[in-house]
Amino acid sequence: MIDPAEALRLIMEHARRLPPETVWVEDAAGRVLAGEVTATEDLPPFDNSAMDGYAVRSADLASASEASPVELAERDIIRAGDFPSVSVGPGEAIRIMTGAPVPSGADSVVMVERTRPAAGGRVTILHAPRAGDHIRRAGEDVRRGASLLADGALLRPYEVALLAAQGRVEVAVTRRPRVAVLATGDELAAAGAPLAPGKIRNSNGPALVSALRRRGFEVRDGGIVRDDREAIRGKIRDHLGWADVLLVSGGVSVGDFDFCKAALEEAGVREVFWKVAIKPGKPLFFGVSGDRLVFGLPGNPVSVLVCFDEFVRPALEGLESKSAGHTGFHLAGTVVNDYPKETDRRRYLFCEVTREDGEFLVRIVRPQGSGMIGMACRANALAVHPAGGRPLRKGDVVEFRWLK
Ligand code: AMP
Ligand code: MG
Repeated sequence: MIDPAEALRLIMEHARRLPPETVWVEDAAGRVLAGEVTATEDLPPFDNSAMDGYAVRSADLASASEASPVELAERDIIRAGDFPSVSVGPGEAIRIMTGAPVPSGADSVVMVERTRPAAGGRVTILHAPRAGDHIRRAGEDVRRGASLLADGALLRPYEVALLAAQGRVEVAVTRRPRVAVLATGDELAAAGAPLAPGKIRNSNGPALVSALRRRGFEVRDGGIVRDDREAIRGKIRDHLGWADVLLVSGGVSVGDFDFCKAALEEAGVREVFWKVAIKPGKPLFFGVSGDRLVFGLPGNPVSVLVCFDEFVRPALEGLESKSAGHTGFHLAGTVVNDYPKETDRRRYLFCEVTREDGEFLVRIVRPQGSGMIGMACRANALAVHPAGGRPLRKGDVVEFRWLK
């Protein structure tokens, strides 16, 4: 058995970044930028008004206030999208809309709420602006030529907005990993098929496929394979022709019909490690075939998803990005019920976490079991109890993360 931190280190060491591809900017959220992006345009591209109001000369209004309004001659109106040829002279104001270019002569904008219409094409100003008020200067946000986004940046809708604002319609991103999923076991029946005595339904296949799809990975569902060494080997070979990552569930433990390890070796997969000091999930296998990563996941449905979040997801993120890391357990909460079990392995505990008076309260769901999917669905968080830790008591502090 190896330590889980060492297991993750070995996985990340083998997860080398995939090549880039080009996508439409509006499809880029969630993707990882391949290569640095430099600004080709100033943002904003011209001085413009941040408010609906009046473009004015602040020197004309030094004494203006509610108590002592100042009248200016209203000369014109500039709408967003216009490009004004008029300029603001002494004693004048030009009506201006948000986003419209600031005319020459004006050094500030007074918002419409601080003005009143006056007779005879004039406007009353109730406020003394400072030079620069409510003007968004060309290039104040982004300077042309500046570095905009670093290689490996995660593209969120904010970065999409930035790229679109720069006139980009396409962007280079790291290709998404292709992942194949195989469920092994003589006992498995496909969803929708009648359940003969002794059989159970394949829940690992749909669970893994959905875990992958919700994050946008390319998925090939290899369905169910019998506990037959040659059949498993053949399927592994088929899928390794396409996949960057192969996930095989079941058959990696020490049972008489656990053939996956042998079949993987025969298919040319080199073992990096087998068995990790965690509960659930101990039989986890990780191997490589060239640049391809192969996970042998335990058959138990809860173990499968714990191993997916702890080890497979970081690997997939590593394939997409240089900078991806594991989210880890970063919240702390107080245990409200005893969990009197010692363990020599890192234990993942399904919990119901609530928040009271600014404190997270962690109720450990009992009983816990690696096959208990109903139990897992009653939890909203996963806590971790380090290897060698003493039994948990009410009042102890544990680290947890949300199960989202
Ligand atoms: P194994 O690792 O093959 O010994 O399987 C461990 C446990 O997980 C057994 O109880 C299996 O029946 C169960 N199991 C294996 N594969 C699946 C699957 N695809 N869906 C649901 N349960 C499974
Ligand atoms: Mg099995």
